[in-house]
Amino acid sequence: MKILVSACLLGVPCRYDGKSKKHPEVEALRAQGHELIPVCPEVQGGLSTPRPPAERQRDGRVVNREGTDVTAQYQAGAEIVLNTAREQGCELAVLKERSPSCGSGEIYDGTFTGQLIPGDGVAAQRLRQAGIKVLGESQAETIQ
Ligand code: SF4
Repeated sequence: MKILVSACLLGVPCRYDGKSKKHPEVEALRAQGHELIPVCPEVQGGLSTPRPPAERQRDGRVVNREGTDVTAQYQAGAEIVLNTAREQGCELAVLKERSPSCGSGEIYDGTFTGQLIPGDGVAAQRLRQAGIKVLGESQAETIQ
């Protein structure tokens, strides 16, 4: 099947710090016969790499460590990756855990202190709202 995947999990250095988060179990999905469609909602939404780290606030906005509100870029990126998922016919996404855009189930609390709270990143939330199943990389092994 076609699976939408966070590009950083496939070795693309698109994270805020200019690095990737290559994940062997996610890459192994290819060997199982799945087609992986890489997306990076932060970069596709118009942010540069590297960029200041950002966290979702409790009111839903996304603000970077310098205090700049980057919610619009996150929302734009979420729409772009949703369109990609629809065009490609992806019903499943494997996205980077705890990211303010890709995180699913838990994200940082917006205080830049490493505290996690229940919640989704902006793109993960948008995909779920559209009926696409979202898993984190630690759940990649569960995909048949
Ligand atoms: Fe990775 Fe998603 Fe962050 Fe892009 S937005 S670097 S794909 S976690």
